[in-house]
Parts: sequence; C-alpha cells; structure tokens
Amino acid sequence: MATINDRYLYLKAGYLFPEIARRVNAFAEANPSAKIIKLGIGDVTEPLPEACRAAMIKAVEEMGDRATFRGYGPEQGYPWLREKIAEQDFKARRCDIDASEIFISDGSKCDTGNILDIFGKDNAIAVTDPVYPVYVDTNVMAGNTGPANEAGQYEGLIYLPISAANDFTAAIPSQKVDLIYLCFPNNPTGATATKEHLQQWVEYALANGSIILFDAAYEAFITDPTIPHSIYEIDGARNCAIEFRSFSKNAGFTGTRCALTVVPKTITGKASDGSDVELWKLWNRRHSTKFNGVSYVVQRAAEAVYSPEGQAQVKALVSFYLENAKIICEKLTAAGLTVYGGVNSPYVWVQAPTGLSSWEFFDKLLEKANVVGTPGSGFGSAGEGYFRISAFNSRENVEEAMKRILENL
Ligand SMILES: *Cc1c(COP(=O)(O)O)cnc(C)c1O
Repeated sequence: MATINDRYLYLKAGYLFPEIARRVNAFAEANPSAKIIKLGIGDVTEPLPEACRAAMIKAVEEMGDRATFRGYGPEQGYPWLREKIAEQDFKARRCDIDASEIFISDGSKCDTGNILDIFGKDNAIAVTDPVYPVYVDTNVMAGNTGPANEAGQYEGLIYLPISAANDFTAAIPSQKVDLIYLCFPNNPTGATATKEHLQQWVEYALANGSIILFDAAYEAFITDPTIPHSIYEIDGARNCAIEFRSFSKNAGFTGTRCALTVVPKTITGKASDGSDVELWKLWNRRHSTKFNGVSYVVQRAAEAVYSPEGQAQVKALVSFYLENAKIICEKLTAAGLTVYGGVNSPYVWVQAPTGLSSWEFFDKLLEKANVVGTPGSGFGSAGEGYFRISAFNSRENVEEAMKRILENL
C-alpha cells in the first residue's frame, strides 16, 4: 500500500477563502437583489498592457513559422529577458546582480514554496504574523513543522507578530533563526520597510548565518523614493538574501504567469559535513531538473515590460490601482475607521471598529454595505481585529463600495 506525506494532514483545511465564499453565497441567496462588490482576493482586474499583448502576438506568429519556431528554451529563462531584468530592475538601482543570478519561473508563489527543496530539515524558520499563507503551508508540507495549535500556529515555526504597535515591521528576533521570510511592501498589511529596517535584518542575517527570503512581489507600488525596492539595495544582502519578484501585480500577469527568483552566487549554506555550499548551484540544479522553462510567448510578454512603452503602461496600471487605494484610505478614514498601508501598496489594512473581531466586521460590511474584504485573522492570529481591503478593482466599483460604507456604517 502506498503511503502518503502525512504532513499534509497537519494543514488546516483551506479555511479563509472557502469560509468567505460560504458567507457571501449565503448572503447572496438570502438577498438576491444585493449587488455585492468584492474587494477581497488579491487578484488584478485590469487588462494586460498593450506592449505585452503585441509582443505575445508577434511571438505566437514566430511559433507558427518553421524558421522562427522555438522548442525547449533554457530552463533558467532566455538571456534577453534575464539581461533586461538585471539592467533595469537591479543595476539601475545600484544592485550588484548579474543576469546569470536571475531564474525565470512561472510564479513567485511556486518559487517561495519550491525554494525549501534546497534547504535542510533542521532549520529554525521565522515568519511574520499575519503572513502570506504560502510561506507557512509549504513549510508544513516540507515536514519543517509540527502540528498546529488552537490559534492555528504550527509547532516549530517562529512567529514574529506585526501590528500597529511596531509599525507592522517585525522586531529582530532575540533567538537565532536560520531562514526568515520578509515581504515588503507587505501582503496583507500594506506596510513598507525603510532602508534602516532592512539593514538591521541584513546585519542580523550576516551575524547569524541566516538567509532572508525576500518577497518583493509588490515593489512596483513603491512611490516613496526613500523606500528600497530590492533587498540588494542593502550592503551585504548579496551574502544572505534570496529575492522573489513577479510580473503578476505590476503587469497584471496573474493569469499569464511569469516571475523571477534571484539567487546571488555569493550565498552559501552549510552541508552536513560542515562545508559551505553555493545555494546558486543547488537552485540551478533544482530548477533545471524539476522545471522546463516559461513559454517563449510569455517571456516575450515579460520582456515587453522593459520597453519604453511597456514601462509607461505598467506605470499607468500601477498608478490606477494606487489611486484606488488612496480613495479607499480617504473614504474609510472619513467613515471614522483607522487605516494602514494603501500608500506604497495596493492593500489597505483596516482596524475593525472597537469591539468587533475581524469576522464580525466582515459580516457587518457584507450585510450593511454589501462589500466583501478579507478578515485579518485569516492571515494569522495577530491579524485579529484587522481587515484587508484590496485596491484591485474598477474605479466604479471602488467608488460605489466606499460610498456604501460611508452611508451605511
Ligand atoms: C501575488 C503574490 C505573489 C505573486 O505570486 P505569483 O505566483 O507570481 O502570481 C507573491 N507573493 C505575494 C505575497 C503575493 O501576494
């Protein structure tokens, strides 16, 4: 009889989004005339930039001609894409990252999970609370945790609480941590990290031999020029940080699929015999064994993001969502609520009115304004009392949702 990976049984049944769907469906059935506006799930709504579409169409035509047809490409991605990323995302910000250190993939969600393949089983692993659930669940699947307790926290993981009290930036841990996941601008809180804060993490990591797994999926939303876009803007990060980036949120590739992971050749980890091993070699081996590259058509679409037209179109897309976020912040503040994030981020993190839990506030917004958001407690126990509202929607829906909240709350 085949056995299974028992650790999957530790996973809490995907609770958050199914529970939201259950409550929304029940409400919709009881109130068939209600026009529900969803500001919950972190998916984009606006169409792909014209430059990306044009590049894809051209690439499809090439695929239809024997002379320009492409079969398997390099697993790590085509050099023309990796070089543009190195130049424009990194070198232009004075980050010392070479094209050979950039691995193209079909998503950051996958990469943040897959990266665990190259690490040992006895690392001390830290996540923030609240957190993007993928970091936690992939560690459970990899066998890096024990079971969850009542509060939903897994034995063996180190949870670093973030809240208004610490500006939604985790305190540097007092104990030794081997792997630490950081996400800035943050999902779900919309918080950003200053250069000084990231510098503290890099210093901690260098002093303790730790590795920072830095998720920069939302870097394009940074408008404040003092906030770093990349962990490699910090001195020393080349020796302790892996960075994940995605075309999902800047260029609307959530359904197109393209992302990248940066593994500098200067980072090492310890083998069990005590020797230092380059992580780049391991990730290169993993990536080329278990992955066969992103489609040519999609890599051409990603390349178009770096053309002058592509840059202008992506900027317009991001500005559109940021304007939504600004409207959400202004209206919710006018409604008497306390809001965080929403400035260098598409997420607004709302404090539920005094005395209301995250789910109670969810029900109230659904019933009174027919607006759906995401209860903060679904991202971790320290998210209790908060609520995430996403700016990914049409202007019309955002304005209508805010009008209803102002009138009915
Ligand atoms: C959306 C998102 C990503 C991007 O995931 P893809 O698989 O590239 O679409 C990565 N990290 C976080 C925190 C996200 O919210």
